[in-house]
Amino acid sequence: MTDSIEYDLIIAGSGLAGLRAAIEAAQKNSKIRIGVVAKTQVMRSHSVSAEGGTAAVIQEEEGDTIESHIYDTVKGSDFLADQDVAERLCQMMPNEIYQLEHWGMPWSRKENGKIDQRNFGGYSFARATYAIDKVGFFEMQTLYDTCQKFDNIEFLNEWFITAIIHDGKQFCGVTAIELSSGSFYTIKGKALIIATGGAGRIYSYSTYALSSTPDGLDMAYRAGMALKDMEFVQFHPTGVLPSGILITEGARGEGGYLLNKDGERFMKNYAAGKMELAPRDIVSRAMMTEMSEGRGFNHDTGVQCMKLDLRHLGDEKIKAKLGGIREISIKFSNIDPAEEPIDVRPVCHYMMGGIHTNIDGAAELQGVWAAGEAACNSVHGANRLGANSTSECIVWGKITGSIAADYIEKEYNESQFPGHLVVAEEKRIYDGIFRGSGEVNPYEVKQEISDTLNDKAYVFRNEADLISGLKKIRELKTKTWKHVDDKAKEYNTNFSNVMEIDSMIRVAEVLLIGAINRKESRGGHARTDYPTRDDANFLHHTLAYYDPNEPIMKKHPVTITKYKPVERKY
Ligand SMILES: Cc1cc2nc3c(=O)[nH]c(=O)nc-3n(C[C@H](O)[C@H](O)[C@H](O)COP(=O)(O)OP(=O)(O)OC[C@H]3O[C@@H](n4cnc5c(N)ncnc54)[C@H](O)[C@@H]3O)c2cc1C
Repeated sequence: MTDSIEYDLIIAGSGLAGLRAAIEAAQKNSKIRIGVVAKTQVMRSHSVSAEGGTAAVIQEEEGDTIESHIYDTVKGSDFLADQDVAERLCQMMPNEIYQLEHWGMPWSRKENGKIDQRNFGGYSFARATYAIDKVGFFEMQTLYDTCQKFDNIEFLNEWFITAIIHDGKQFCGVTAIELSSGSFYTIKGKALIIATGGAGRIYSYSTYALSSTPDGLDMAYRAGMALKDMEFVQFHPTGVLPSGILITEGARGEGGYLLNKDGERFMKNYAAGKMELAPRDIVSRAMMTEMSEGRGFNHDTGVQCMKLDLRHLGDEKIKAKLGGIREISIKFSNIDPAEEPIDVRPVCHYMMGGIHTNIDGAAELQGVWAAGEAACNSVHGANRLGANSTSECIVWGKITGSIAADYIEKEYNESQFPGHLVVAEEKRIYDGIFRGSGEVNPYEVKQEISDTLNDKAYVFRNEADLISGLKKIRELKTKTWKHVDDKAKEYNTNFSNVMEIDSMIRVAEVLLIGAINRKESRGGHARTDYPTRDDANFLHHTLAYYDPNEPIMKKHPVTITKYKPVERKY
């Protein structure tokens, strides 16, 4: 018998989406017990590293409109966004900016005292609400602080969830390892909100926290829920070399230029109307084209890069508005952006795909919702606009928290807990991983997975590369890496790493198969062998269902309300 604890609502993940969900559910019903379970400490959740802004229309007097935010989001998505979902995001966000402010969010201000906003890529109005260039840190601080007001929110920090337990009809609980003791637990619950974030550490050149692995996606996938649109990965134009740490789009929003080796602002040849503030997919493709045509710079590490020039902004403005990225640039690449341009290259930054949900965040199992980057409610389609992700986390944190609280009170029916599934899960991880034997070093496998995705499914893709990438991942799957050398119980990071690798393999496979099947170029998925968008054959979402042999792939319709897909021009 494993140890067992119980909550009414389990929230997996304590990033922006998880915290916002917890507050909403706690406010809605003070009687339900909410457990926020995360494999990190709260303020180590990846959301703290969000830099540049949170999108919302709050300057209608100055001419911004909700309609324009909706259209920018849909156009930015290369028309793969579900338009009703984009409408929901844009309509709900303005209130959330003020709600955060009332909870203590220190938004940056204009001289007249009003909340300031900056330019971001793909928008027709400067609507990224910011707090210097540390927006995620301050938002997390504000939400975490607000959580303390509620007696019915409890945090289980540093607990690694391994599986979702259900009886075939509805959610019953999760299994988790308390990392500090190494003990295996059943956490029973009536409802679950999955807010486990993005999975960008399946790429080796990545802006993500090391904890951003696909275990949250994988646990939903193994429990029978579909992963949607996993082939759409966002490559942010400005990862600083050599680490890949992000230089926020806010740097270009504040007026930074991208230069090629001829000193030319090359974006004039790709998106003359928006220049450096075209959507990320377009800027990243342009950078890669410049490099492949010989107009890039050779970086010391052996890769090609472009230059991001902020010098003309001046020392004072850089320090006041971009202090965080100045520090990153100095510490991690030895360049003071006030004096020298920064070496940048497109870097894995966001997953448009995730757990398939409807507009309310409901996943395909009764009692389960997903919110934030782990979810794919299709608000971003094939390409997310910058600053729309923190917004998404906040909006669907609120929506799912509210609906899950109602479900627990009004709709939930007790069912028999399927204890045999806990036994099976314990066997999977302890016999299959912890006590497994093998010669192959799991860390080398981890590196090989992420290098394979970097090499074979980067900004530009083609059939031959994707197929060889899939072959490689399947070879790695069969190697004897499923074993843990360190047998310690407490804080066994060897163990958690190997569990993460297990998920990486399954999710990498889904990503590559989705990319092979999508024989067109749309948003974050650019194929050199199919260079144009093909609405006749591919204006649909991709769904992948788990099968022990290989994923079962299906199509899912795109919701189009007002905006007929047209060619994207900027
Ligand atoms: C460097 C950087 C800067 C960014 N800047 C911006 C920006 O300015 N504006 C914007 O809109 N977006 C930005 N983004 C994107 C945005 O930050 C993320 O999409 C968003 O913060 C994700 O939040 P989340 O709540 O979904 O998940 P996260 O914050 O990633 O949290 C995930 C949580 O799940 C937990 N977890 C994961 N797996 C498990 C498991 N197996 N068991 C238990 N817990 C688990 C983690 O511990 C963590 O608590 C940026 C992204 C990066 C990488």
